[in-house]
Amino acid sequence: MTAIKLRNLIVVCGDQLDHDSVALDGFDPARDAILMTEAAEEATYIWQSKRRIALFFAAMRHFRDAQRKVERTVLYNALDDEKAPGSLASGLKTTIAQYDPEQVIMVQPGDWRVRETLEDAAGKTGVPFSMLEDGHFFTTIHDFMGFADGRKRFIMEDFYRMMRKQTGLLMDDGQPAGGAWNYDKDNRKAFGKNGPGLIAPRAHYQPDPVTLDVLRLVEKRFADSPGTLENFGEPVTREDALHALDDFVANRLRDFGMHQDAMWDGSSTLNHSRISAALNLKLIGPREACDAAIAAYEEGAAPLNAVEGFVRQILGWREWVRGLYWTRMPDYADLNALGADRSIPDFFWTGNTDMACLRDMITRLLRTGYAHHIERLMGMGLYLMMIGTRPYDTHDWHMGLYLDAIDWVSLPNMLGMSQHADGGIVGTKPYCASGAYIDRMSNYCNGCRFDPKQSTGERACPFTTLYWDFLARHEERFSDNRRMALQVNNLRRKDVHELKIIRARAEKLRNI
Ligand SMILES: Cc1cc2nc3c(=O)[nH]c(=O)nc-3n(C[C@H](O)[C@H](O)[C@H](O)COP(=O)(O)OP(=O)(O)OC[C@H]3O[C@@H](n4cnc5c(N)ncnc54)[C@H](O)[C@@H]3O)c2cc1C
Ligand code: SF4
Repeated sequence: MTAIKLRNLIVVCGDQLDHDSVALDGFDPARDAILMTEAAEEATYIWQSKRRIALFFAAMRHFRDAQRKVERTVLYNALDDEKAPGSLASGLKTTIAQYDPEQVIMVQPGDWRVRETLEDAAGKTGVPFSMLEDGHFFTTIHDFMGFADGRKRFIMEDFYRMMRKQTGLLMDDGQPAGGAWNYDKDNRKAFGKNGPGLIAPRAHYQPDPVTLDVLRLVEKRFADSPGTLENFGEPVTREDALHALDDFVANRLRDFGMHQDAMWDGSSTLNHSRISAALNLKLIGPREACDAAIAAYEEGAAPLNAVEGFVRQILGWREWVRGLYWTRMPDYADLNALGADRSIPDFFWTGNTDMACLRDMITRLLRTGYAHHIERLMGMGLYLMMIGTRPYDTHDWHMGLYLDAIDWVSLPNMLGMSQHADGGIVGTKPYCASGAYIDRMSNYCNGCRFDPKQSTGERACPFTTLYWDFLARHEERFSDNRRMALQVNNLRRKDVHELKIIRARAEKLRNI
């Protein structure tokens, strides 16, 4: 085929569906083209759920159509094309050979592996390759490095306060709105005996013909992948994603803060926003999300504790973990501070366990691709940390099942925050707890064959047994951590004989 000369070939990956992308600035329909590839390699390099694969491909096809509507050329490699390239790299190389662009442009991808692969592929062709800073975020990696450089105290809270001052979000005359930087004292409550009551369900977006095609394709090509496509109703267009944000602000934001950490059997969304997947695909922006919540506060439709809590997650945590990822990779992925060496238990792929909490969380996750923060941290992640699962495996598992998992955000959260494998970079202490925490924050234990108060015997709650064993295994390390002092002192008060029985039982649980 005769080569057609292009000026810019703009590569857009599945998590870069930003209608406002800096890579599209100055796009000239006569000389530029966008390249998008549904690569089989991206759907199979880790074992991942049908739902996650379908979300990416459906959102990509809608982005392609939206770009074509505004007269932009999109060279689109669909998975079911006869000559579909198997990987992003081969898609890029073939397209460069065919169109001979003057340069290849893309926004920094969300995965170190993808960046390396594409840089390498373009490099081999000799075509100049520009990687642009992602304008989707509030901050740049360069700015984050400026914040981190030479800092003795390196914690999210300091970064968050700097971001509040820099952006002016929730600031009054240079002071935090309401007089405090955070309102956690009003948050983190359980639901109480009567449960969450009536909460407006999350909106469902009926798949259109484009999405239905993808669902059929995924069902056929990835029949053995985990999870299900039943009842697929994710927002896959910018319009639907904006609607999902509005729906949260109008119906659930008000009680977001107070019950942010609460869990309830059979309930996924509760008062959470469920916008993480849309944000991470870049269908909507973090500023749009914060602005919408702050507008609700200013109109008196949502209280400050809820709005500040929501803004902190996005302006603070989301930007912080991204900065950490790009400034610590690739070494970060290998960290294993607690020397964890076990495999993921099989039931994490099926939900087939007697533990009422994990059974519900994992089966819901397989059905929906979602679990909220505390279910991830103090449910599934906690269990994996306490049995000593290899940290990178926990990240792979998380990447495979969650719709919102992209390497830059899953890795610091899973390996750092949840598994404490970075030894205290993301969080200064491990999030470890016994079954008592789950009992306090949910209704799971009422319907469980185990008892959260017992650490030995037939009815001993695995979380409680594993908790004492975890502390004992790492006692020396944790005794240097002031924030762990209470837990270590409690361990030291335990009867030696009882601890021996607990540890023998824990060893069995760790080997399941
Ligand atoms: C072990 C573990 C793994 C996680 N992995 C991911 C992941 O792969 N992708 C992901 O987007 N979030 C991840 N998070 C953060 C958080 O759990 C999800 O963002 C949140 O549950 C998504 O649901 P939501 O949209 O209803 O969030 P809400 O509870 O409504 O919060 C609002 C938004 O804040 C942002 N946010 C909150 N906490 C974090 C955080 N720690 N890091 C980054 N963004 C945050 C998200 O964009 C989220 O949509 C992880 C947390 C833990 C504990
Ligand atoms: S008793 Fe233990 S295993 Fe059962 S639901 Fe409670 S915390 Fe989970």
